[in-house]
Amino acid sequence: MRALVCGVALAVSAATAVIAQQAPGAAQPEVRSRRVQGSVWLINAGFVNVAAQIGDDGVLVVDTGTQALSEKILAEIRRLAPDKTIRFILNTHAHPDHTGGNATIAKAGRSIIAGNFVGQAGAGAANLAKIVAHENTLRRLSDGEGSQPAAPADAWPTDTFFTKRNDLFFNGEAVQMLHQPSAHSDSDVVVYFRKSDVIVTGDVYVNTTFPIINLQEGGSYAGLVAALNRLIEITVPKDKQEGGTFLIPGHGRIGDEADLVEYRDMATIVRDRFQDAIRKKMTLEQLKVARLLRDYEGRYGASQGFWTTDAFIEAAYRSLSPAQPASATAKPAPGTAKPAR
Ligand SMILES: [Zn+2]
Repeated sequence: MRALVCGVALAVSAATAVIAQQAPGAAQPEVRSRRVQGSVWLINAGFVNVAAQIGDDGVLVVDTGTQALSEKILAEIRRLAPDKTIRFILNTHAHPDHTGGNATIAKAGRSIIAGNFVGQAGAGAANLAKIVAHENTLRRLSDGEGSQPAAPADAWPTDTFFTKRNDLFFNGEAVQMLHQPSAHSDSDVVVYFRKSDVIVTGDVYVNTTFPIINLQEGGSYAGLVAALNRLIEITVPKDKQEGGTFLIPGHGRIGDEADLVEYRDMATIVRDRFQDAIRKKMTLEQLKVARLLRDYEGRYGASQGFWTTDAFIEAAYRSLSPAQPASATAKPAPGTAKPAR
């Protein structure tokens, strides 16, 4: 059995399949939620996180989880906000574990379209929540580039941007979508709720594994570290306390600046070790044997699942090798024919 998680194609064991594929009849993981801060809620759906901002204007959802859990995620949104309309879906990137519920949740919502524009947008457009994302997310969902097949058209973003930043104002607060070039992939945005003081990071910050660098889809080690440093510039800790700005990662638990700094430090130290090994002309095989990550393996390593230590070592080695730029060397995952762009 195969599954796509964060753009990484993998052969899944029976145990992983329950989470990733939702085989018919299998027990589905629970969808649970908790308020993070201000107007922002975390909806944990199996191994992936969804966020919802709820207020007088309605509901704004960030990422929509897997298709298999989309009805349960929608039911949880309805439970949290029974009398509110879903107006926006924001996607942090294109991967199917973050966009799989786009169609289901968009159909349950409605858009506000000013009278003059109804003719242009079509009356049907008002019967869907808007899906907003970086244009590379639309490109990947519509073309099936990289490691994933094309998604159905009703899951595609309806509003895209190609600039560094896209701003919205909803539920009484500024909401900024900040593009992070060439990090986990080429379509990453982090969503910053300025009044609630919460950032939804997508997969540029995931605190359960080593950094997930998807070379086939335009990710890079340097871009990922740059994104972590940008996040640190935004986050502010409470005075002499935990908390302050909270982060909802794509996968894993809620974090604050201290968690983020610890993760950025790990990513930076590990990068330096790789660069040193590459300067010494070590091969990929030698690097794997040398176990340069052994002090971090207990916390972030994995021998199975969607992002193993070996997969990380390989991506890091290719991304950091100066003679082999990522775009030229990214090997398609088994079963995927399209070259990286
Ligand atoms: Zn991803």
